[in-house]
Amino acid sequence: MDIFYISKKYIKKLIILLAIIIFFNILIYIRNDIDVPTFKYSSNYFINKTIVIDPGHGGVDGGAVSSGGLMEKDINLAIGKYLKELLDESGANCIITRDKDIELSKLSTIKDTRNRRDLNARVNIINHNKADLFISIHVNSFPKDKSIKGPIVFYYNQSEPSKELAKYIQKRLNTEFNKYYRYKKHNKSRGGTYYILKNTKSPGVIVENGFISNKEDYNLLKKDKFRYSIAYQIYMAIGEYLNG
Ligand SMILES: [Zn+2]
Repeated sequence: MDIFYISKKYIKKLIILLAIIIFFNILIYIRNDIDVPTFKYSSNYFINKTIVIDPGHGGVDGGAVSSGGLMEKDINLAIGKYLKELLDESGANCIITRDKDIELSKLSTIKDTRNRRDLNARVNIINHNKADLFISIHVNSFPKDKSIKGPIVFYYNQSEPSKELAKYIQKRLNTEFNKYYRYKKHNKSRGGTYYILKNTKSPGVIVENGFISNKEDYNLLKKDKFRYSIAYQIYMAIGEYLNG
């Protein structure tokens, strides 16, 4: 009888322990669940605006790769397609530099490395279409320090409108990433002289959507819903920029 009594007590403790574990798992699940906002700009908001969406890399060029084999090019493409969908729905004349897993070097006529010709082709698409603005989509990686995380938006030093656009996007993406971070991180948009920024005639930015080398960012970027959320925040920021 004594043994039975002890085991009954033990079962009670076990049930309490299980309940605690389930409770914390539900908490973690709620914290990690990604809610997708539904507000969209009205259908005449982007009328007559030409916007070029440029998902970086593609084809033989995977871009940054995580230790588990997740490739930047696929994340960029997913975000880019979602962003195009949102802009199309809102009446923009939206052009995407690639809508499948390809690189663009064949479209360039300059004699240079494959990588440079690929970038040149993207610049040409932006310039030929006289884009009102462009968004180049990328994901960062810094394996030497895996604690580095968060989005960073780059603009061309000499372009005030690009700086403005970068600020709107940076602010929204900081908020979006911070929803899921254990410790908040507020990166600032940065001036840069990258080829695509320097050689385009339109205002535009390179959006680095977090670091694939960071565990927290990786866990977010692998989720399709989060990729949509990023696209949605960029879409909202473009609206703010055009309205500002
Ligand atoms: Zn990249």
